[in-house]
Amino acid sequence: MSTVMTPAAAARRELAAFNGRLVGPEDSGYDEARKVYNAMIDRRPAVIGKPTSPTEVAQLIHFAREHGLPVAVRGGGHNGAGLGTVDDGVVIDLSLMRDVEVRPQERTVRVGGGATWGEVDRATGAHGLATPSGIISTTGVGGLTLGGGLGHLTRKFGLSIDNLLSADVVLANGVSVRASADENPDLFWALRAAAGTSASSPRSSSACMRSAPSWPARRCGPSRTPRRSCRSTASSSPPRRASSTGSSRS
Ligand SMILES: Cc1cc2nc3c(=O)[nH]c(=O)nc-3n(C[C@H](O)[C@H](O)[C@H](O)COP(=O)(O)OP(=O)(O)OC[C@H]3O[C@@H](n4cnc5c(N)ncnc54)[C@H](O)[C@@H]3O)c2cc1C
Repeated sequence: MSTVMTPAAAARRELAAFNGRLVGPEDSGYDEARKVYNAMIDRRPAVIGKPTSPTEVAQLIHFAREHGLPVAVRGGGHNGAGLGTVDDGVVIDLSLMRDVEVRPQERTVRVGGGATWGEVDRATGAHGLATPSGIISTTGVGGLTLGGGLGHLTRKFGLSIDNLLSADVVLANGVSVRASADENPDLFWALRAAAGTSASSPRSSSACMRSAPSWPARRCGPSRTPRRSCRSTASSSPPRRASSTGSSRS
Protein backbone atom coordinates (compact mmCIF):
# COMPACT_ATOMS: atom_id res chain seq x y z
CA MET A 1 0.00 0.00 0.00
CA SER A 2 1.46 3.37 -0.96
CA THR A 3 1.13 6.37 1.33
CA VAL A 4 0.31 9.71 -0.29
CA MET A 5 1.90 12.67 1.40
CA THR A 6 -0.38 15.69 1.93
CA PRO A 7 0.81 19.05 0.55
CA ALA A 8 1.21 20.32 4.11
CA ALA A 9 3.43 17.37 5.02
CA ALA A 10 5.43 17.89 1.83
CA ALA A 11 5.78 21.60 2.64
CA ARG A 12 7.07 20.79 6.13
CA ARG A 13 9.66 18.49 4.64
CA GLU A 14 10.74 20.77 1.79
CA LEU A 15 10.48 24.09 3.62
CA ALA A 16 11.92 23.05 6.96
CA ALA A 17 13.17 26.58 7.74
CA PHE A 18 9.57 27.75 8.05
CA ASN A 19 9.50 25.76 11.28
CA GLY A 20 6.00 26.28 12.70
CA ARG A 21 4.96 28.87 10.12
CA LEU A 22 3.22 26.33 7.88
CA VAL A 23 -0.34 25.32 8.70
CA GLY A 24 -2.28 22.46 7.13
CA PRO A 25 -5.72 20.86 7.61
CA GLU A 26 -4.37 18.44 10.19
CA ASP A 27 -3.13 21.23 12.48
CA SER A 28 -5.15 22.49 15.43
CA GLY A 29 -4.72 26.13 14.34
CA TYR A 30 -5.98 25.48 10.82
CA ASP A 31 -9.51 26.89 11.19
CA GLU A 32 -8.19 30.10 12.71
CA ALA A 33 -5.43 30.42 10.12
CA ARG A 34 -7.77 30.00 7.12
CA LYS A 35 -10.29 32.63 8.29
CA VAL A 36 -10.71 35.80 6.25
CA TYR A 37 -12.70 38.91 7.11
CA ASN A 38 -15.82 37.83 5.19
CA ALA A 39 -17.15 34.96 7.30
CA MET A 40 -19.16 33.68 4.32
CA ILE A 41 -15.90 32.62 2.67
CA ASP A 42 -15.14 29.08 3.81
CA ARG A 43 -12.16 27.98 1.71
CA ARG A 44 -9.85 25.15 2.73
CA PRO A 45 -6.28 25.76 1.58
CA ALA A 46 -3.89 22.83 1.42
CA VAL A 47 -1.12 24.85 3.06
CA ILE A 48 -0.97 28.26 4.67
CA GLY A 49 2.57 29.62 4.82
CA LYS A 50 3.67 32.71 6.72
CA PRO A 51 6.86 34.07 5.17
CA THR A 52 9.02 36.68 6.89
CA SER A 53 11.06 37.76 3.85
CA PRO A 54 10.86 38.04 0.06
CA THR A 55 13.09 34.96 -0.12
CA GLU A 56 10.51 32.94 1.78
CA VAL A 57 7.73 34.31 -0.43
CA ALA A 58 9.72 33.00 -3.40
CA GLN A 59 10.15 29.61 -1.68
CA LEU A 60 6.39 29.26 -1.23
CA ILE A 61 5.79 30.18 -4.87
CA HIS A 62 8.37 27.63 -5.94
CA PHE A 63 6.76 24.96 -3.76
CA ALA A 64 3.32 25.67 -5.24
CA ARG A 65 4.70 25.51 -8.77
CA GLU A 66 6.53 22.24 -8.14
CA HIS A 67 3.37 20.66 -6.74
CA GLY A 68 0.96 22.17 -9.26
CA LEU A 69 -1.00 24.00 -6.57
CA PRO A 70 -2.86 27.30 -7.04
CA VAL A 71 -1.63 30.28 -5.02
CA ALA A 72 -3.45 33.04 -3.16
CA VAL A 73 -1.74 35.97 -1.46
CA ARG A 74 -3.27 37.34 1.71
CA GLY A 75 -2.56 40.86 2.88
CA GLY A 76 -5.19 42.14 5.32
CA GLY A 77 -7.66 39.39 4.36
CA HIS A 78 -10.52 41.86 3.81
CA ASN A 79 -11.37 41.13 0.20
CA GLY A 80 -15.11 40.48 0.06
CA ALA A 81 -14.79 37.81 -2.62
CA GLY A 82 -12.11 35.99 -0.64
CA LEU A 83 -9.30 36.58 -3.13
CA GLY A 84 -6.80 36.24 -0.30
CA THR A 85 -7.48 32.51 0.05
CA VAL A 86 -7.92 29.46 -2.15
CA ASP A 87 -9.32 25.94 -1.92
CA ASP A 88 -6.68 23.18 -2.08
CA GLY A 89 -3.87 25.59 -2.78
CA VAL A 90 -1.10 27.52 -1.07
CA VAL A 91 -2.00 30.69 0.82
CA ILE A 92 0.92 33.07 1.19
CA ASP A 93 -0.13 34.86 4.35
CA LEU A 94 1.89 38.07 4.63
CA SER A 95 0.80 38.85 8.18
CA LEU A 96 4.35 38.54 9.53
CA MET A 97 5.66 41.07 6.99
CA ARG A 98 4.15 44.27 8.33
CA ASP A 99 7.06 46.57 9.10
CA VAL A 100 6.46 50.28 8.46
CA GLU A 101 9.31 52.74 7.96
CA VAL A 102 8.57 56.46 7.65
CA ARG A 103 11.11 58.77 6.03
CA PRO A 104 9.86 62.18 7.14
CA GLN A 105 12.38 64.20 5.10
CA GLU A 106 11.31 62.45 1.92
CA ARG A 107 7.66 62.35 2.98
CA THR A 108 7.51 58.68 2.10
CA VAL A 109 6.61 55.52 3.94
CA ARG A 110 7.85 52.00 3.15
CA VAL A 111 5.36 49.35 4.10
CA GLY A 112 5.60 45.55 4.38
CA GLY A 113 3.27 43.56 2.13
CA GLY A 114 1.09 42.40 5.05
CA ALA A 115 0.72 45.71 6.90
CA THR A 116 -2.68 47.18 7.63
CA TRP A 117 -3.63 50.82 7.26
CA GLY A 118 -3.94 51.34 11.02
CA GLU A 119 -0.25 50.53 11.38
CA VAL A 120 0.69 52.93 8.59
CA ASP A 121 -1.53 55.71 9.94
CA ARG A 122 0.00 55.40 13.40
CA ALA A 123 3.53 55.57 12.04
CA THR A 124 2.97 58.45 9.59
CA GLY A 125 0.72 60.35 12.01
CA ALA A 126 3.59 60.52 14.50
CA HIS A 127 5.39 62.72 11.92
CA GLY A 128 2.34 64.79 10.98
CA LEU A 129 2.03 62.89 7.70
CA ALA A 130 -0.72 60.77 6.15
CA THR A 131 -1.10 58.62 3.05
CA PRO A 132 -4.51 58.26 1.37
CA SER A 133 -5.94 55.04 2.76
CA GLY A 134 -9.36 53.50 3.40
CA ILE A 135 -11.93 54.38 6.02
CA ILE A 136 -11.13 51.66 8.53
CA SER A 137 -7.83 50.65 10.03
CA THR A 138 -7.85 46.88 9.55
CA THR A 139 -7.85 46.66 5.75
CA GLY A 140 -4.56 45.61 4.20
CA VAL A 141 -2.34 48.17 2.47
CA GLY A 142 -1.58 45.65 -0.31
CA GLY A 143 -5.12 44.75 -1.33
CA LEU A 144 -6.62 48.18 -0.86
CA THR A 145 -3.86 49.88 -2.82
CA LEU A 146 -3.93 47.37 -5.68
CA GLY A 147 -7.71 47.92 -5.85
CA GLY A 148 -7.32 51.71 -6.12
CA GLY A 149 -7.94 52.72 -2.51
CA LEU A 150 -10.63 55.25 -1.79
CA GLY A 151 -10.79 57.09 1.54
CA HIS A 152 -11.05 60.35 3.41
CA LEU A 153 -7.99 61.93 1.76
CA THR A 154 -8.88 60.93 -1.80
CA ARG A 155 -10.40 64.24 -2.84
CA LYS A 156 -7.31 66.12 -1.77
CA PHE A 157 -4.50 63.65 -2.54
CA GLY A 158 -5.91 61.02 -4.93
CA LEU A 159 -6.34 57.29 -4.52
CA SER A 160 -3.87 55.15 -2.58
CA ILE A 161 -2.55 53.73 -5.85
CA ASP A 162 -1.82 57.24 -7.14
CA ASN A 163 0.60 57.59 -4.23
CA LEU A 164 2.48 54.36 -4.84
CA LEU A 165 6.06 55.27 -5.74
CA SER A 166 7.62 51.82 -5.96
CA ALA A 167 7.02 48.21 -5.00
CA ASP A 168 9.40 45.34 -4.28
CA VAL A 169 7.84 42.46 -6.07
CA VAL A 170 8.38 38.69 -6.09
CA LEU A 171 7.46 37.54 -9.58
CA ALA A 172 5.66 34.30 -10.36
CA ASN A 173 9.04 32.76 -11.24
CA GLY A 174 10.38 33.65 -7.78
CA VAL A 175 12.64 36.50 -8.89
CA SER A 176 12.52 39.68 -6.78
CA VAL A 177 12.46 43.02 -8.60
CA ARG A 178 11.61 46.62 -7.88
CA ALA A 179 8.89 48.30 -9.91
CA SER A 180 8.61 52.08 -10.17
CA ALA A 181 8.21 54.73 -12.84
CA ASP A 182 11.94 54.31 -13.62
CA GLU A 183 12.59 50.65 -12.81
CA ASN A 184 10.54 48.02 -14.65
CA PRO A 185 7.95 50.65 -15.59
CA ASP A 186 5.79 48.09 -17.43
CA LEU A 187 5.46 46.06 -14.23
CA PHE A 188 4.69 49.23 -12.29
CA TRP A 189 1.98 50.00 -14.81
CA ALA A 190 0.59 46.47 -14.37
CA LEU A 191 0.53 46.81 -10.56
CA ARG A 192 -1.63 49.87 -10.96
CA ALA A 193 -4.22 47.64 -12.63
CA ALA A 194 -3.61 44.38 -10.74
CA ALA A 195 -6.56 44.03 -8.36
CA GLY A 196 -8.08 40.60 -8.20
CA THR A 197 -5.68 38.85 -10.53
CA SER A 198 -4.32 36.79 -7.69
CA ALA A 199 -3.40 33.73 -9.72
CA SER A 200 -1.08 35.53 -12.08
CA SER A 201 -0.16 38.78 -10.39
CA PRO A 202 3.18 39.38 -8.73
CA ARG A 203 3.46 39.30 -4.94
CA SER A 204 4.44 42.61 -3.46
CA SER A 205 6.73 42.14 -0.48
CA SER A 206 6.88 45.83 0.34
CA ALA A 207 5.84 49.12 -1.14
CA CYS A 208 6.98 52.72 -0.89
CA MET A 209 4.23 55.33 -0.81
CA ARG A 210 4.06 59.09 -0.80
CA SER A 211 2.91 60.55 2.48
CA ALA A 212 1.48 64.06 2.46
CA PRO A 213 1.43 66.47 5.37
CA SER A 214 -1.70 66.04 7.43
CA TRP A 215 -3.59 68.98 8.84
CA PRO A 216 -2.32 70.29 12.14
CA ALA A 217 -4.34 69.03 15.09
CA ARG A 218 -5.16 72.55 16.25
CA ARG A 219 -7.57 73.06 13.35
CA CYS A 220 -9.98 70.74 15.11
CA GLY A 221 -8.94 71.27 18.70
CA PRO A 222 -5.82 70.31 20.59
CA SER A 223 -7.06 66.93 21.74
CA ARG A 224 -7.61 65.58 18.22
CA THR A 225 -5.02 63.45 16.48
CA PRO A 226 -3.80 64.65 13.06
CA ARG A 227 -5.58 61.72 11.43
CA ARG A 228 -8.94 62.69 12.87
CA SER A 229 -8.46 66.29 11.94
CA CYS A 230 -7.85 65.20 8.33
CA ARG A 231 -11.15 63.44 8.39
CA SER A 232 -13.03 66.41 9.83
CA THR A 233 -11.43 68.85 7.45
CA ALA A 234 -12.06 66.66 4.43
CA SER A 235 -15.72 66.23 5.21
CA SER A 236 -16.28 69.95 5.72
CA SER A 237 -14.39 71.01 2.58
CA PRO A 238 -16.22 71.69 -0.69
CA PRO A 239 -16.02 68.69 -3.00
CA ARG A 240 -12.94 68.64 -5.23
CA ARG A 241 -12.27 66.50 -8.21
CA ALA A 242 -9.80 63.72 -7.43
CA SER A 243 -6.53 64.08 -9.30
CA SER A 244 -6.50 60.36 -9.89
CA THR A 245 -6.09 58.50 -13.11
CA GLY A 246 -6.62 55.11 -11.47
CA SER A 247 -9.90 53.42 -10.66
CA SER A 248 -11.19 51.77 -7.51
CA ARG A 249 -12.37 48.23 -8.02
CA SER A 250 -12.19 47.01 -4.46
C1 LIG B 1 -14.69 46.53 6.38
C2 LIG B 1 -14.10 46.94 5.05
C3 LIG B 1 -13.88 48.28 4.77
C4 LIG B 1 -13.36 48.67 3.54
N1 LIG B 1 -13.13 49.99 3.29
C5 LIG B 1 -12.58 50.38 2.13
C6 LIG B 1 -12.29 51.76 1.87
O1 LIG B 1 -12.55 52.63 2.68
N2 LIG B 1 -11.72 52.08 0.69
C7 LIG B 1 -11.42 51.15 -0.24
O2 LIG B 1 -10.89 51.53 -1.28
N3 LIG B 1 -11.68 49.84 -0.04
C8 LIG B 1 -12.25 49.43 1.12
N4 LIG B 1 -12.53 48.11 1.34
C9 LIG B 1 -12.25 47.15 0.28
C10 LIG B 1 -10.81 46.67 0.39
O3 LIG B 1 -9.95 47.65 -0.12
C11 LIG B 1 -10.63 45.40 -0.47
O4 LIG B 1 -11.46 44.40 0.04
C12 LIG B 1 -9.18 44.95 -0.49
O5 LIG B 1 -9.09 43.90 -1.42
C13 LIG B 1 -8.71 44.49 0.87
O6 LIG B 1 -7.33 44.29 0.86
P1 LIG B 1 -6.67 43.27 1.89
O7 LIG B 1 -5.18 43.26 1.68
O8 LIG B 1 -7.19 43.53 3.26
O9 LIG B 1 -7.36 41.92 1.41
P2 LIG B 1 -6.84 40.50 0.94
O10 LIG B 1 -8.08 39.68 0.88
O11 LIG B 1 -5.73 40.02 1.78
O12 LIG B 1 -6.27 40.79 -0.51
C14 LIG B 1 -7.09 41.28 -1.54
C15 LIG B 1 -6.38 41.07 -2.89
O13 LIG B 1 -5.16 41.79 -2.91
C16 LIG B 1 -4.06 40.89 -3.07
N5 LIG B 1 -2.97 41.34 -2.18
C17 LIG B 1 -3.07 41.78 -0.90
N6 LIG B 1 -1.87 42.14 -0.44
C18 LIG B 1 -0.99 41.88 -1.46
C19 LIG B 1 0.40 42.04 -1.60
N7 LIG B 1 1.16 42.53 -0.61
N8 LIG B 1 0.96 41.68 -2.78
C20 LIG B 1 0.20 41.20 -3.80
N9 LIG B 1 -1.12 41.02 -3.73
C21 LIG B 1 -1.70 41.38 -2.56
C22 LIG B 1 -4.59 39.53 -2.68
O14 LIG B 1 -3.89 38.51 -3.33
C23 LIG B 1 -6.02 39.61 -3.14
O15 LIG B 1 -6.12 39.36 -4.53
C24 LIG B 1 -13.07 47.70 2.55
C25 LIG B 1 -13.29 46.34 2.82
C26 LIG B 1 -13.81 45.96 4.05
C27 LIG B 1 -14.08 44.51 4.32
